[in-house]
Amino acid sequence: ICVSSQVGCNMGCAFCASGLTKKKRNLTSGEMVAQFMNVQRELDKTGERLSHIVVMGTGEPFDNYDNVMNFLETLNHDRGMGIGARHITISTCGIVPKIREFADAHTQYNLAISLHAPNNELRDQLMPVNHAYPLEELMDALKEYSEKNNRRLTFEYILLKGVNDSKAHAKQLARLLRGYNAYVNLIPYNSVDENAFRSVSREEAMVFYDLLMKEGIRCTIRKEHGTDIDAACGQLRIKELKKRGETE
Ligand code: SF4
Repeated sequence: ICVSSQVGCNMGCAFCASGLTKKKRNLTSGEMVAQFMNVQRELDKTGERLSHIVVMGTGEPFDNYDNVMNFLETLNHDRGMGIGARHITISTCGIVPKIREFADAHTQYNLAISLHAPNNELRDQLMPVNHAYPLEELMDALKEYSEKNNRRLTFEYILLKGVNDSKAHAKQLARLLRGYNAYVNLIPYNSVDENAFRSVSREEAMVFYDLLMKEGIRCTIRKEHGTDIDAACGQLRIKELKKRGETE
């Protein structure tokens, strides 16, 4: 399951529906455990067990570092939920000091980076966090994390039609990641009414994928679920809030 770490988010990524509402507060580790337990309770009816957790829902996990780390420890602990650390992924938009702190924590959790642009000019436009921590600083911190923990990094890259999906972008991305133990997750965008971003077609995503693979960068195209009922990443919450007139 995908767990949220905050109510709203202050990071302001231009394409993100979850971040349209500003951060109201951090979630406690208990509230994050409750997200897990509620889903597991539903699955109990069919005898299924939750096995993989990503902290990629609403919020920036590293802006709520202590609570998120407590939550992950509860998930991982054998007197907690007993989920293997390598089945747990934490995702950040690039808060450099916290990446360094995470590197020093020496956990076995997976780290994913929401990258979405291969150069500072474009990343500045899409993700305000890049003004504070530009790509050079981010990539340095990630190198430190990799060296200290010997772990592969996952880079999330949402394909936005006509914005970050050209051949030149694919080549820049390959250049940026060369030398890293990196894996790119290409994500088709889930359109929402609140902005003008649109997704690429499957064929266009394949062209980008092929270019990266040719450059020696391992990647996959994520299969999306729930778009047809507005329940994919970020969509459902914004629809609910609009119904209640609470989008500010
Ligand atoms: S993509 Fe993540 S960090 Fe950026 S605004 Fe959305 S929830 Fe926040």
